[in-house]
Amino acid sequence: MSGIARDLISLGVLHETQTVHGQGRPSILLDLHPEGAFFVGISLLEDPAPMVLSDFNGNIVARRTMPLSRDPEVIADLISEALPKLLAERKDAAQKLYGLGVALSGFVDERQASCVQSTLLGWQDVPLANIIRQKSGIDTFIENDAKAVAVSEKLFGNARDIRNFSVVSFDDGIGCAHFIGGKLYRGNHGGAGEIAHCTIEPGGSPCRCGKRGCLDTVASLKAIKEMAKAEGLSCHSMNDLETEASLGNAAAIRVLHRAGNALGLAIAHLIQFNDPGMILITHVEGRFDGLFGTVMRQSVEANVLPRYAGQTPIRTQRVDGDLWARGAASIAAHNFLIGPTPN
Ligand SMILES: [Zn+2]
Repeated sequence: MSGIARDLISLGVLHETQTVHGQGRPSILLDLHPEGAFFVGISLLEDPAPMVLSDFNGNIVARRTMPLSRDPEVIADLISEALPKLLAERKDAAQKLYGLGVALSGFVDERQASCVQSTLLGWQDVPLANIIRQKSGIDTFIENDAKAVAVSEKLFGNARDIRNFSVVSFDDGIGCAHFIGGKLYRGNHGGAGEIAHCTIEPGGSPCRCGKRGCLDTVASLKAIKEMAKAEGLSCHSMNDLETEASLGNAAAIRVLHRAGNALGLAIAHLIQFNDPGMILITHVEGRFDGLFGTVMRQSVEANVLPRYAGQTPIRTQRVDGDLWARGAASIAAHNFLIGPTPN
């Protein structure tokens, strides 16, 4: 171990912080050197696609965007073109670049190499990591968006000291990822935690997955907007809906109640199954300080065992421009530091 530590110190990845005198030989505490390694993260969830350069503490030190494409070869070309410009913004980064991560919407295999399926990108079994690696020459790993955010929270964010937690991403669709016992949990087929397709209203509206009454059909941002439209409301955002509800519009109140209840019920099940130390909800434009958030929290409390009520902190975080790209970079950092994340 000390041999490996010496190598990493000479590479500048680790540095000595202090000497601790206890029983036996004094020991030296080692820490990651923030500028010891850099990682690139790219989000394929937005157009244009954000691309960031992250240091070893998860700080974003440079950012660019590139056009989004659905053609894997074109994506790899665009990355290879943009990469030198991104690296030019930070001295030494090119010499200390240890990996590239890509976050996308869809299923990813446990080697973090192939996209098994993505509705958004229209992909089935696309070996994206290899295609990018061949063109860029950089070790590349890909990951599902919610899982990338969970890894980023575990490595650099609010979940550093939490062994068990879940991320719920609230967007046009609902995504989810779990850390269990300090490790990202994938399940047997990579589909662990896909709460979007839990049946919440048996026999309810048809879902794009082929079932009926899935959480996605009631509580996703897309579903909420569709329900509002069906109620004859001309609300284009959660903000509009919350405003209407606060003015006493019964239809807006009905929609937010139904959606908040459904999301709360799914999260209550999640708490009941896994007993996590935290639930982190990331959201693009959802508001959790109004009726929707209140009903969601009430629904969680009402549907967990009484002794669990109030025991699980539920945090909400608005997605800033870097969230998914930072998550993608953390996938590369995680692989460099700990290795891939199969169960
Ligand atoms: Zn479904």
